[in-house]
Amino acid sequence: MTTFAITPPATPTLSVTDSDDLFPVRRVYCVGRNYAAHAIEMGHDPDREDPFFFQKNPDNLVCGATQFPYPAQSADVHHEIEMIVALQSGGTDIAIADSMNHVWGYGVGLDMTRRDLQGQMKKAGRPWEIGKAFEDSAPCTPLVPASTLGHPEAGLVWLDVNGVRKQEGDLNQMIWKIPEMISYLSGLFELAAGDVIMTGTPSGVGPVERGDTMTGGVEGVGEFSIKVV
Ligand code: MN
Repeated sequence: MTTFAITPPATPTLSVTDSDDLFPVRRVYCVGRNYAAHAIEMGHDPDREDPFFFQKNPDNLVCGATQFPYPAQSADVHHEIEMIVALQSGGTDIAIADSMNHVWGYGVGLDMTRRDLQGQMKKAGRPWEIGKAFEDSAPCTPLVPASTLGHPEAGLVWLDVNGVRKQEGDLNQMIWKIPEMISYLSGLFELAAGDVIMTGTPSGVGPVERGDTMTGGVEGVGEFSIKVV
């Protein structure tokens, strides 16, 4: 009989729309600068620099969150609305043409970012974890299975703060489409069931304050309303 030296931590999970099933999360990959207008607002030329990847922690995801606790040690926390892709299988060196067979479903999430700490790390040439991978940094909606939704390639991506539109884009503006992301990532890492990809944010990122309400969504995939506390 297996015994553990300490009590095993819980498996992070996401809920599933219209189901009692839970989706277990293994890893969280995030794409940076995948919408041209956002790359430009961050001071980069999308024609000269490809998108790239970083990671959050699986337990940074908070499915169905209605509150976002303002994190410690930052005075400049930004919203980034993103579509989420959840994988049912994986592998290495996956061909673009085979990529979508690995997708289980989709959701909507926020890549909340301590922009001041991220900026310090960028400037120092250090990793981004303290800016990106903190507690509660990835609130998200329940997943919708591709078996009912299909594979969305276009649709409004939007985020309002206190009812004022801040971010607006369309899934069809992604520089790297989902099959390209999966194929590229699988050349760097072995992808597997339970892996989640946050697909990048359109332009209009900006700060939130305690008391703000973030409302947003991806057309046809999901919507949320989250208060910053
Ligand atoms: Mn992001």
